Amino acid sequence: MIDATSFDATSSETEDSPQDADKDVVLAQWNTVNAQLRDEIGEAAFQSWIKPMKIRTVADGVVHVTVPTRFMRDWVIAHYAERIATLWQSEAPEVASIEVSVRSDRVPTQPREGIRRQTPPVGDGQTGDMPGARPGLSAALDPRFVFENFVVGKPNEFAYAAARRVAEADRVPFNPLFLYGGVGLGKTHLMHAIAWHIRQTTPERTVIYLSAEKFMHRFVQAIRESTTMDFKSQFRSVDVLMIDDVQFIAGKESTQEEFFHTFNALVDQGRQIVISADKSPSDLVGMEERLISRLNCGLVADIHATTYELRLGILQSKAAQIRADVPPKVMEFLAHKITSNVRELEGGLNRVVAHAQLIGRDITIEATQEVLHDLLRANDRRVTIEEIQKQVANHFNIRISDMHSARRARSVARPRQVAMYLAKQLTARSLPEIGRKFGGRDHTTVMHAVRKVEELKSMDPGFAEDIELLRRMLEG
Ligand code: ADP
Ligand code: MG
Repeated sequence: MIDATSFDATSSETEDSPQDADKDVVLAQWNTVNAQLRDEIGEAAFQSWIKPMKIRTVADGVVHVTVPTRFMRDWVIAHYAERIATLWQSEAPEVASIEVSVRSDRVPTQPREGIRRQTPPVGDGQTGDMPGARPGLSAALDPRFVFENFVVGKPNEFAYAAARRVAEADRVPFNPLFLYGGVGLGKTHLMHAIAWHIRQTTPERTVIYLSAEKFMHRFVQAIRESTTMDFKSQFRSVDVLMIDDVQFIAGKESTQEEFFHTFNALVDQGRQIVISADKSPSDLVGMEERLISRLNCGLVADIHATTYELRLGILQSKAAQIRADVPPKVMEFLAHKITSNVRELEGGLNRVVAHAQLIGRDITIEATQEVLHDLLRANDRRVTIEEIQKQVANHFNIRISDMHSARRARSVARPRQVAMYLAKQLTARSLPEIGRKFGGRDHTTVMHAVRKVEELKSMDPGFAEDIELLRRMLEG
């Protein structure tokens, strides 16, 4: 057990060089945790949130860290504390939890030169809680998620315009605003932007932003503590209620029920509601009909998958934000290659920039390929099993339905095996999942197919070439 009364340890401040062995141990553990976190969350987030943390004490299984502001404390607790504790635990099993507090005894440390976000961290005294909201009811807002930092393009212009409208309107323009789209396409960003805007222009209005998951937890907690009346009145007295990722409460009946009543109460009073989800209201499986029809009542705006132009625009904006000098060729390369979502795109850019800064070299396409090989491969490989079946059926001149059929004739069985093999190679699907897509076959059948094709490839160069050709067609 380490019992250092009070000392500072930041990841890279080696000048601290602690005196006793315990401090050395803690510093080493902290450095390891830091390195892993940096990998996981990216350089920008690391610099913003983790770097300013200082270790105070490690005692009785509790790591006590401090941060410069209340806002950072709330943010770190909400987003990183659990992960830090887990990572630390694998270094030192006795560590059970992490405690974050604000250091008041000193001037807040500024992030160092290097990667820094454009919007300055919110200063002391501001909690990221929404204006007028009771403490703890609303989740913290990310200071980077403002309208100014949102790049608008064809796929998101409608959602953006709708969000701006809600943020700027004196009267509720439509209710609810329902934003939906795939992962990492900017739903949360737009919601925070609405909240920031209202906070700035009409601070007297009460705005609550929270995830549907948090909403549910609060609700369950209120039931447990017999404070549901408080819960209801708190939520029913806000001016703007924003619930993120509402798909979470699909299938959770009593939470839906409560949400439905809150929703109606607010709409009746002319308060604004903003909802996000990963699907359209009607596609939300496990959602009650009456709730779906309520959700459909206002404006439903979807965010489409990004285009090349939008991705390029986002990269340019992000590079400017972190003041990184990235050659246009490299940005074009990234915009071409990382097509899955904006979060990955941003993460990729951050990694490339961080790498270049660390080793003190220019950013090149070669370096980018090297640093991002895992990410690039994952993006390359987004071929679907359906595409594979279609392509292979075409190639061997059989019907696509034969991919699912029970026919065992060699003329259809072999192509089917090839398709299974390619599905294993080119997608992240498991053997059982692949089996299901091939007419509900067993995973052992898939395994057998993979082995068979590998065997044939090694014996027959012509066959191997055929497979190679198919693979290239599917990947290209
Ligand atoms: P979602 O909530 O839809 O999963 P987020 O809003 O969390 O996605 O966005 C993921 C990341 O991508 C965030 O860092 C966000 O700032 C960024 N992002 C998404 N769309 C845009 C955009 N159009 N312009 C700038 N940044 C964007
Ligand atoms: Mg989100």
